[in-house]
Amino acid sequence: MPYVGLGVYKAMEGQEVENAVKAALKHGYRSIDTAQFYANERGVGKALKESGVPREEVFITTKVWNDSQGYDSTLRAFEASREKLGLDYIDLYLIHWPITGKYKDTWRALEHLYREKKVRAIGVSNFQIYHLEEVMEDCEVKPMVNQIELHPKLTQRELLTFCQKHDIQVEAWSPLMRGKFFDHPTLIALSKKYNKTVAQIILRWDIQQKIVTIPKSVNEARIKENANIFDFELTEQEITDIAKMNENLRLGPNPDDF
Ligand code: NDP
Repeated sequence: MPYVGLGVYKAMEGQEVENAVKAALKHGYRSIDTAQFYANERGVGKALKESGVPREEVFITTKVWNDSQGYDSTLRAFEASREKLGLDYIDLYLIHWPITGKYKDTWRALEHLYREKKVRAIGVSNFQIYHLEEVMEDCEVKPMVNQIELHPKLTQRELLTFCQKHDIQVEAWSPLMRGKFFDHPTLIALSKKYNKTVAQIILRWDIQQKIVTIPKSVNEARIKENANIFDFELTEQEITDIAKMNENLRLGPNPDDF
């Protein structure tokens, strides 16, 4: 999967999400992260079709929402997402949140979809180590991806190490901390040193740690900016310095509460 993708949470269905996806594809993105919950899958699919970029060049992720979890309802939710996106197959299908008492049945549905080749890869989102262990204890197909909140204020070292050990690709959501903390001195200093924006410094920090990143923007200039991170390299020390910003600070919900 590509290391950089466009996130479309809160990009409005219709013109807004369509323009964002088209801009991203124009500026070289080949990965889009949507979800049943975002209610913009139709716009994502429409923009992809109209962009003229061949389907097989693009990596499309969507997710099953909490109230659709369970075996049969997940299969129905998948079919609805696939229909809205207008695609024959999805590249990556994720369980959006670990709903207690449900996520193991949901996982069995994802395994079924994978075996049927309706989805090229299956994974989870917002899973803690204990959730992953529970799924892996008797699964047939192991989760391939864990999409989690991860940024300089929430570095997730323990979970990251666990995922790397088990060959589960970590993907960072809210990588830009939703634009907060851009004034941190460490980030400002690196921004000046490399003549890159703070957003570019953070996204570069992700990919150098082999973390897939999916910044959201609906603004063409920022969409372009966020993908322009392949012409400089942070030092090991700088990667460590950014990680020192960690405060285990969550901007979104805590997966332990689901
Ligand atoms: P991000 O950290 O990506 O921040 C997005 C915000 O930053 C927007 O307000 C955007 O505004 C702004 N922004 C984008 N680029 C720049 C830039 N270069 N400079 C300054 N500001 C910028 O937050 P998200 O929460 O949206 O996370 C990204 C994606 O992760 C989501 O879109 C979604 O796909 C996924 N996600 C997954 C979750 C899960 O539970 N699995 C939960 C939350 C998100 P503007 O649009 O105006 O540019």
